[in-house]
Amino acid sequence: MIPRTVHWKNALATAIRDPAELLALLDLPRELLPAAREAARTFPLLVPRGYAALMTKGDPEDPLLRQVLPVANEQEIRQGFSTDPVGDRASSSGAGLLHKYQGRVLLLAAGGCVINCRYCFRRHYPYSESGTGRWDEALGHIAADATVTEVILSGGDPLLVDDTRLADLATRLAAIPHVRRLRIHSRMPTVLPERVDTGLLDWLRSVPLQAVMVLHVNHANEIGAQAAAAIGRLRAAGIPLFNQSVLLRGVNNDADALCRLSEALFDLGVVPYYLHLLDRVAGAAHFEISISEADVLFEAMRRRLPGYLVPRLVRERAGEPYKLFA
Ligand SMILES: *Cc1c(COP(=O)(O)O)cnc(C)c1O
Ligand code: SF4
Repeated sequence: MIPRTVHWKNALATAIRDPAELLALLDLPRELLPAAREAARTFPLLVPRGYAALMTKGDPEDPLLRQVLPVANEQEIRQGFSTDPVGDRASSSGAGLLHKYQGRVLLLAAGGCVINCRYCFRRHYPYSESGTGRWDEALGHIAADATVTEVILSGGDPLLVDDTRLADLATRLAAIPHVRRLRIHSRMPTVLPERVDTGLLDWLRSVPLQAVMVLHVNHANEIGAQAAAAIGRLRAAGIPLFNQSVLLRGVNNDADALCRLSEALFDLGVVPYYLHLLDRVAGAAHFEISISEADVLFEAMRRRLPGYLVPRLVRERAGEPYKLFA
């Protein structure tokens, strides 16, 4: 039997974009609507239907809902929270290339996402000015710098790029002798699992570089049956899989939730990699966890989990040569 599949572009086209629809779907009070509308004006609401289906109806504190519902707190002006918290604009070489760390360059391969996470440090990033998609120039930079051994596709979400364009990019990267690895950072395998289709898998299997994928899951509830199946397909294709999370107040600032996430990931063959402290982006202050609170959570994880299930607790600071251990 041929499984009934929805093309990922259709799944994206039918994603929820109207706060009123999300609230109605989840039986949430209409009183939440004015603030949601207001906050969505600067950074729109965007939620794939499959992701919304994993939320608990009637629960305004659902950890998935909190990641996507625009709220009044986003309008607060808070000292220390800026529109470019990690210095991306300063380290951008143009051409959508960020070269902050030795040996690795990050290519902003796509200018958008399939979900708008309210805490996102790129929520103010000027993708349209950043050269996203001007690959000739980016490839020129990479070819000219023999220290670059790994190219990281990020964004936005790089899996928004069509398979044919991804294949073209990878072929051109593979022709550069010093490039060995292609790392893909994507939230799509879990938030829009339809993306992990045969076209993508065929490409990943044949890519002439060592492919690595870093997922972005913050809570075990995000791994529904479809996401688990998508991760299974990636694993069957032989792709090493890691996960990064962001420590978020009201979402996962709880030792049980963090331990459950590590276990759920590893059940599917995904290794917890990073647990990031929030980048201090304007509009996300209400998600912040202090370093001392993070320490307590991290200590609890270390006590309860085997070492390989404890992600590295890190924070990013502009100008540093690597992500700092918090
Ligand atoms: C996080 C990041 C990387 C990758 O860092 P790793 O520690 O190797 O995961 C590379 N470039 C930029 C700009 C980054 O923000
Ligand atoms: S998927 Fe990643 S880049 Fe996109 S909005 Fe969410 S956190 Fe930001």
